[in-house]
Amino acid sequence: MSRLSETFHLAGLEIAALSDGAPDRALGGFFHGVDAAEWTRALGITSADEPVPFNFGTFLIRGDGRTVLVDAGYGAAGKALGVPGGGELLQRIAELGVKRDEIDTIVHTHLHLDHCGWDTDAEHDRAVTFPNATVHVSRKELDYWTGPATDENPAAKGARATIAPLLESGRVKTFEGEFAVTGSIVMVPTPGHTPGHCSVLVASNGEHLLILGDAAHHPTHLEHHSWIPQVDVDPAESTRSRAKVAQLAVEKNAIVTGGHFPILTLGRVKKVETGYRWESL
Ligand SMILES: [Zn+2]
Repeated sequence: MSRLSETFHLAGLEIAALSDGAPDRALGGFFHGVDAAEWTRALGITSADEPVPFNFGTFLIRGDGRTVLVDAGYGAAGKALGVPGGGELLQRIAELGVKRDEIDTIVHTHLHLDHCGWDTDAEHDRAVTFPNATVHVSRKELDYWTGPATDENPAAKGARATIAPLLESGRVKTFEGEFAVTGSIVMVPTPGHTPGHCSVLVASNGEHLLILGDAAHHPTHLEHHSWIPQVDVDPAESTRSRAKVAQLAVEKNAIVTGGHFPILTLGRVKKVETGYRWESL
């Protein structure tokens, strides 16, 4: 089982990796286009059914006078998952001594419910959870989940329900292409998992952190870009995005982490003769 909360630093920023649920799970669905023997070996397990630590993660970034939440967990629905820490994000935030109204910004990598669940509270009439936060999401992503393309998609129901009150109150701001949310946080388009999926590049005093969202569900995806999560809307595009984030990580010598990596997973990506190598920190 992975941990539920861990804080680390990037130059002047304090960054907390916070779980909204940390199940042990069989990850076979994230490795298509590859023999089971190959990906299980990469993960150090013996069968595709063997559970490994997984996480529904968020990151709270404090510094430069800002308090920014990267993704918003599974939400109240996470309590019903019956997994360690499920639906407990608000407790994790409170444990840091941070009040909900101190969070001024939320950025979404994408709008699957396990990333925007706490935007509003399903147990309290969809009350807005973080009343002072402006919510940033790519225009493409918002259009996809609120438009006709997902009318028949069961995942759209949760996304639409949780974000509707924020749209009504004008708290959602959209962007196109690469977008600087603050002086230290840039949204980088990495589509494929969903059409408007972004990764989050954090910079502070020359140091970089790359938060991957679902461009990778496991660090081994940084090495094997064509090992395709079944949940990717456009596998060819997500494969290109994995190559893009690996290259970006190398260029920036960035510390890399991801919302579904167990807490605390930090690594760097090295360019090697055969491609890219993930090195845990
Ligand atoms: Zn996800």
